[in-house]
Amino acid sequence: MDLTSGYPFWPAKNGFLKTYEPLDRSLACEVLVLGGGITGACIARSLVEDGRDVVVLDRRNFGWGSTCGSTALLMYEIDTHLRDLIRETGQGLAVAAYRSGLEAIEKVEGLCRTLGAGEFRRRDTVYFASTAADGEILRDEFETRREFGLPVEWISSEDFSRQFDFPAPGAIRSRVAAEIDAFQLTHALLADGERRGARLFARTEATECHEREDGLLVKTDRGPEICCGHVVVACGFESLKYLRRSVPVRLTSSFALASEPIRDFAGWPDRCLLWESARPYCYARTTSDGRGLLGGEDVPFQNALARDALLPAKVERLERRWRALFPRIPLELAFPWTGTFAETGDGLPYIGFPSEQPRAFFALCYGGNGITYSVLAAEMLRAALRSERHPYADVYSFERKKA
Ligand SMILES: Cc1cc2nc3c(=O)[nH]c(=O)nc-3n(C[C@H](O)[C@H](O)[C@H](O)COP(=O)(O)OP(=O)(O)OC[C@H]3O[C@@H](n4cnc5c(N)ncnc54)[C@H](O)[C@@H]3O)c2cc1C
Repeated sequence: MDLTSGYPFWPAKNGFLKTYEPLDRSLACEVLVLGGGITGACIARSLVEDGRDVVVLDRRNFGWGSTCGSTALLMYEIDTHLRDLIRETGQGLAVAAYRSGLEAIEKVEGLCRTLGAGEFRRRDTVYFASTAADGEILRDEFETRREFGLPVEWISSEDFSRQFDFPAPGAIRSRVAAEIDAFQLTHALLADGERRGARLFARTEATECHEREDGLLVKTDRGPEICCGHVVVACGFESLKYLRRSVPVRLTSSFALASEPIRDFAGWPDRCLLWESARPYCYARTTSDGRGLLGGEDVPFQNALARDALLPAKVERLERRWRALFPRIPLELAFPWTGTFAETGDGLPYIGFPSEQPRAFFALCYGGNGITYSVLAAEMLRAALRSERHPYADVYSFERKKA
């Protein structure tokens, strides 16, 4: 099953970067990471940095899962409003989840600076109300976030009209957000991990995982097997087949387009990240080479063929939306594409060792903010293998409590 279709912008911009060989012999290692998207890459590099013996397998080429289809807006604010999350999970967990997003953005910035890759750029986020009723809900959400010290400002309807070329009843501006090239960062993390000793194999699928007295035995579609102490499941939305319990997850396909480079961003103040209160929502950002990206039109995922058949109609709708949002910026379409990702019931990812699978760390970095969770997952596993408690372990654990 392909995870993306059309041609995503990032591999077109970067090229393949590096193609790794498949696995051709049986191996043993301390930690086997399944999946070499942004999550597996963050985890693998973090573990080798900590002195672990790591092997990474991907059934495709590295970075060619959801990661290459991602529009890669980095936001601490998740799809579930803080006030709703507090009701659902309790104040402590909800506020910690929002704060963890702020920390994650700083960590991604640190990684990008260290590796000299990923095109990290700080931007403001503007989250606008799509309807008058949503204007009141967002005002309430703004008050809640402000109460807990999150970096928000309110934009009134009048101020909004002065800054943008379309009306909105109000909006929340957040001062901590960023945009990156997640495909490039994934490859930089993997290359650095390899330099530090990680062994990377592409186009090799893990097909079975068996528990043994001294660890796990993982079989692959190419024949060779891997003995390991722990396995990390970072297979994106294809991870669930390894999980022995059921979690509330739905698969969603999203549609996106990249424009040709834009000369004048009139009506797009400070090239902010833009999203809205409607569900499904549209989301927009710009790129380092001066393009605009617009995504949205999400639908439940059925199969790759059905999703791909929707692409032309969805792109037309996105083009119409572009003209409504940015009437002074003519759209020259360069790349339309679609990709699939997963979302959970409460909007939070599942990261950790399920109690019934003590040797399998799951990094189900699901949701519209999946990339921020990838860096948190890497830290959480590193701490767990050192037998340390991570401050966000309970927030994202499989055992997390409801309010
Ligand atoms: C259109 C779109 C827009 C998005 N926009 C944003 C955004 O703006 N901000 C944000 O934070 N997130 C966004 N996301 C979500 C984000 O892209 C994902 O959260 C993130 O890429 C997930 O990374 P991952 O490494 O966990 O999964 P993936 O990138 O899917 O990587 C999983 C890898 O596992 C491999 N694999 C699967 N099964 C096996 C197996 N059995 N053996 C070996 N390998 C296996 C796959 O080949 C794949 O390469 C978006 C997603 C899409 C599709």
